[in-house]
Amino acid sequence: MTDANKVKCACADCKCMVTPDKAIKRAGKPYCGEPCANGHASGSGCGHTGCDCHG
Ligand SMILES: [Zn+2]
Ligand SMILES: [Zn+2]
Ligand SMILES: [Zn+2]
Repeated sequence: MTDANKVKCACADCKCMVTPDKAIKRAGKPYCGEPCANGHASGSGCGHTGCDCHG
């Protein structure tokens, strides 16, 4: 399943796909959420099902 409108979250460990529209941009890179955009500074994951990224 390919969706040209989606890009992978820029967090290295994150498997989430985000639409550029809804992505949180940080330093020009798209992230799926605040935890990823903040480099998981608070130690929390992105909270998306099936994704266990914690930075
Ligand atoms: Zn994630
Ligand atoms: Zn993410
Ligand atoms: Zn992440």
